Amino acid sequence: INTLSNAFISSENMDLIMEDLIDKVLLITDFQTGWIVFREAHQFRLKTSRGISTDFQKHIIKGDLDLLCPDALKVNEPLYIFGPPVLSKMQLLRDEGIDFLVALPLISNHKPTGLLFLAGRVSREVDSDLAALLSLVGNHVSHIIDKIRLFEETKRLSITDGLTGLYNSRYFYRYLELEIARTRRYGRSFSLILFDIDDFKRFNDTYGHQAGDEALQALARVLQSVSRESDTVVRYGGEEFIIILPNTSEEEAIALANRILQSVQKTKIKISAAAKVNITLSGGIASYPLNAVSAKALLNAADNAMYAAKSAGKNTIICFQGKKT
Ligand code: GH3
Ligand code: MG
Ligand code: MG
Repeated sequence: INTLSNAFISSENMDLIMEDLIDKVLLITDFQTGWIVFREAHQFRLKTSRGISTDFQKHIIKGDLDLLCPDALKVNEPLYIFGPPVLSKMQLLRDEGIDFLVALPLISNHKPTGLLFLAGRVSREVDSDLAALLSLVGNHVSHIIDKIRLFEETKRLSITDGLTGLYNSRYFYRYLELEIARTRRYGRSFSLILFDIDDFKRFNDTYGHQAGDEALQALARVLQSVSRESDTVVRYGGEEFIIILPNTSEEEAIALANRILQSVQKTKIKISAAAKVNITLSGGIASYPLNAVSAKALLNAADNAMYAAKSAGKNTIICFQGKKT
């Protein structure tokens, strides 16, 4: 049982931990077949499995076994044994040669969040020893999954901006280095747009900080909806946002940046029950490797271009014109 907890330490990756976990559970309980499903809004999602055919796996993914889950989750018991009527009635289980099936509810915060299924090709008697072992295993697995989830959530929060839900600068710096390495490896190019809201101090002074926060949230939504799936949108600082555009030339970046400027101009921000206003942006574009060869130099180039856009009268986009560094 102690070896179960090692699964959590073995990796940072949820999927790998789940693989390790199911292996250890099978070893401890002396089953050859098992799978774990997580409860989601309208279905149970397969997380990991061992010893089942790909056909059977597909059926679980499709949700064909979901009807087994509610019964197992309903009971306030550490394990639910499926009786012979269920086993003989369900063709799916018969086809897979399953003659014994037990489910251990995974509980988090007093709520069932998933199920650990253990199955056998021969029937097995559940005496008090096996029942005690299974409930202990269910309990431990629940705890470990809880820990993993908490860890993942903490990790997610550490790279997310609380106000807008966009990535924060901590994530941005790591991602930018990765993007540079990837782009260099494949001999391609990418672009970066740095946006800064125009006269935002005055916006706050005129309409209040809360209206300012709403403007930032509205802007985040526009940036996400206009950018592409492969782009990464970041709240870089207070009212500064960055979009990283992989495999994108300067010309393509200009087109996207201008679409964003138009979209933002059209976006109305509610400042009171009766009034709506809009903001404008200035943006600077820098491309790798056209303008810079390092993350720091690229960011500087975009910053320079953005300030040039401010000097040019704001609400405009300018590309870096200086010397490559
Ligand atoms: P410019 O056109 O030159 O960019 O002028 P600006 O007023 O936008 O620039 P400045 O740097 O002077 O002001 C930025 C303002 O952004 C000041 C600050 O109050 C506001 N700001 C930064 N973060 C937040 C935030 O989280 N919420 C709100 N409401 N305002 C913020
Ligand atoms: Mg600023
Ligand atoms: Mg500003």
